[in-house]
Amino acid sequence: MDNTSNPAVSTPSNVIEADAVIVGAGPVGLFQVFELGLLEIKAHVIDSLPVVGGQCVELYPDKPIYDIPAVPVCTGQELTDNLLKQIEPFEPTFHLNQEVTLVQRRADGRFDLETSLGTKFITKTIFIAAGVGSFQPRTLKVDGIEAFEGSQVFYRVKDPSRFEGRNLVICGGGDSALDWALALAGKAESVILLHRREDFRAAPASVAKMKEMCDNYEMQLIIGQVTGIETKDDKLAEIKVTGADGVTRRLPLDDLLVFFGLSPKLGPIADWGLEIERKQLKVMDTEKFETNVPGIFAVGDINTYPGKKKLILSGFHEAALAAFGAAPYIFPEKKIHMQYTTTSPKLHKILGVESPVFD
Ligand SMILES: Cc1cc2nc3c(=O)[nH]c(=O)nc-3n(C[C@H](O)[C@H](O)[C@H](O)COP(=O)(O)OP(=O)(O)OC[C@H]3O[C@@H](n4cnc5c(N)ncnc54)[C@H](O)[C@@H]3O)c2cc1C
Repeated sequence: MDNTSNPAVSTPSNVIEADAVIVGAGPVGLFQVFELGLLEIKAHVIDSLPVVGGQCVELYPDKPIYDIPAVPVCTGQELTDNLLKQIEPFEPTFHLNQEVTLVQRRADGRFDLETSLGTKFITKTIFIAAGVGSFQPRTLKVDGIEAFEGSQVFYRVKDPSRFEGRNLVICGGGDSALDWALALAGKAESVILLHRREDFRAAPASVAKMKEMCDNYEMQLIIGQVTGIETKDDKLAEIKVTGADGVTRRLPLDDLLVFFGLSPKLGPIADWGLEIERKQLKVMDTEKFETNVPGIFAVGDINTYPGKKKLILSGFHEAALAAFGAAPYIFPEKKIHMQYTTTSPKLHKILGVESPVFD
């Protein structure tokens, strides 16, 4: 029901009314906050990950980037930290650890938007800065395993106390697998780390600690892969592990924790009525970077147009033009002028900085 066309009916108190919602807190989503902020548009930012920074933080936090204009070199994490600092004056509201699942046009022209945690918005504009999609845990591909997801098979740990006193098998060789194996050893009844090869992607210090704990019989390392499961009384009772020697052994357990890394999925974005070309959102022009749905803009890696280059700097440019493109939806009466941050007293006020005196 459209409850805003009738002013007597107020918006339910659990619904956030917004001018702009940004889907994705990667570098482009963060810079979108800045460009909207300069036009006095306040933004909410949603990301399915628990941290901001998108690919820069998830995939290459310590790698140097050399092609950010006027920044000769910075790491993915440093770029993110600087963007966060730059958008501080605009006080964006972050809603992390939740995926945007639903976007629907309302009768009053605005959009209903909902997340996997049940956060609800009514917004005038949407900026999709969802990169390569929402990062989802890579799952274990073994027949019948899905039935135990959330009860005995876990791809993320929400409440570590849940595993106290349990017999755990933790799969993976990256930082998440090692960190959780080390954290839960001693609290769980037993911890077996299961990895398909002797080499680990995790930090060398964690690998050394794990080996030390194995030598002290505080946990166990097995090299092999899960190739099957055994159930008993509708519960997951054992996994079958095939080792490098080709022999399959049975391993009894209470819970299986799997950390095979994250892979991006376009996910629910595909259902929002937006024109999609090879898993990317088509924008109608490169003046506003608006999608086929008026009021919904696509910026950064998620969009496609002739000549598109998936670079951070391209996303920054798109964010600037998309902000100007969106302003008439938010301030239909207002004439929007481009101003320089160097010289505009109005922008200085918005940014909370003092206006310099020029001779
Ligand atoms: C190894 C590597 C090195 C790179 N080096 C460079 C470089 O040197 N220079 C350069 O310019 N570029 C580089 N890139 C590319 C650059 O990282 C991307 O262009 C940039 O991250 C795109 O930013 P974005 O904000 O559009 O998307 P992303 O960084 O992908 O962020 C998108 C965010 O949206 C979230 N999201 C997606 N769907 C949803 C949803 N439904 N609900 C909630 N959240 C959602 C995701 O969780 C993610 O956090 C590199 C990429 C890689 C992988």
